[in-house]
Amino acid sequence: MSTTYAYAASDATKPLAPFEFQRRAPRAHDVQMEVLFCGVCHSDLHQARNEWKNTIYPVVPGHEIVGRVTAVGPEVTKYKVGDLVGVGCLVDSCRTCSSCEEGLEQYCENGWVGTYNGVDRVDGQVTYGGYSTQLVVDEEFVLRVPANLDPAGVAPLLCAGITTYSPLRTWGAGPGKKVGIVGLGGLGHMGVKLARAMGAHVVLFTTSPSKIEDAKRLGAHEVVVSKNVEEMEAHVNSFDFILNTVAAQHDLNPFLNLLKRDATMTLVGAPEHDHPSPQVFNLIFKRRRLAGSLIGGIAETQEMLDFCGEHGITSDIEVIPMQKINDAYERILKSDVKYRFVVDIDSLRK
Ligand SMILES: [Zn+2]
Ligand SMILES: [Zn+2]
Repeated sequence: MSTTYAYAASDATKPLAPFEFQRRAPRAHDVQMEVLFCGVCHSDLHQARNEWKNTIYPVVPGHEIVGRVTAVGPEVTKYKVGDLVGVGCLVDSCRTCSSCEEGLEQYCENGWVGTYNGVDRVDGQVTYGGYSTQLVVDEEFVLRVPANLDPAGVAPLLCAGITTYSPLRTWGAGPGKKVGIVGLGGLGHMGVKLARAMGAHVVLFTTSPSKIEDAKRLGAHEVVVSKNVEEMEAHVNSFDFILNTVAAQHDLNPFLNLLKRDATMTLVGAPEHDHPSPQVFNLIFKRRRLAGSLIGGIAETQEMLDFCGEHGITSDIEVIPMQKINDAYERILKSDVKYRFVVDIDSLRK
C-alpha cells in the first residue's frame, strides 16, 4: 500500500478538495506509476456532481492520465520502471466476451471497469482516477506514450483523442473523403487535427464566427458557420462522413442533409437531454445513417497514440495546478478553455 494525495468530491454539491488514500500494492500484472499530468474531461465534472446519478463518493476523477512507471508486478512483461505511460477511461473489462475478444473493451458485454467511479474486479474496491499522485493499473490497460510528444499535451489524447480517432477510422476518414467536424471544443479540436492528418478534406462547423481563424490554424480546410443557411446549403449531399461532437441538445437535420447517399453522421457528444428525433425522410431518401461511438479499445488507443507520435499531434492545452480545479470546472461550463485543461500533478506533491 502506498499513500496517495488526490483531489476528491465528497458529495454532489461540494467543490473538490484535498483527499488522501492508499493505493494497492501492485498485483502480479500491475504497473504502478507516478502521475505527471491529468486532463480535465467534461465527464469528470458530470460525475463529481452526480449528474449521471451513479457516483460513489468520495470520487477522485481523471481519466486522461500520463505517468512514469515506478514499480511493476512480478509477471509484468510489457513495461519497466522509468517508462512513460498513459491510462485512459478503462482499467479493466471481462476479457472473455465477444467484444473484449475483438479488442473492443469499451463495449464489454459484462461491463468494463472505469478508471474512476468503477469497481475493481479483484478486490471490490472503488477505483480512483488521475487527480492523484499515483496510480496502479493492470498492464493490459496501460498505453505506451511516444517519446517525441509533450506529455502534458498527450494527456487529453487518452479520452478526447481516442473518442474522435475511433469513429474517424471506423468510417474511413482519409484521402479523397470529405469529412465534417461539428463543434470546436475539446473533442472537436482533436477531430480537426486527426482528420486532417489522416488526409481527409476537413470542414469544421461552428455556431461562432469567432472560431473561424482558430479552426483553420488547427487544420480545417473550410469553416462553415452553421447558423448561416446559405453557407450550409452550399454543402448539401456532399459529405462522406460527419463527426458531431456537440454535447448540447440541437437539431440534427441540417447536418444530416449534408451527407451523401449512404453516408453516416456519428454522435460522440453526451448531451444532458436527447436531441430531437431527426426527420425520417431525410434518412430514408438517401439511405443515410445516424450512429454513435464510445471512446476506443486498448489496441486502437495505442494505435492512436502511435499515429499522434508520427504526426506530431497533441491537444492544445492550458496547464493548471490541482488547486485551480474548481475554477477550471466553472470555466468549462462557460466553454472558456482552448481546448483542454490539464492538471500538473506535481502541484499535489508540494
Ligand atoms: Zn473523458
Ligand atoms: Zn468483455
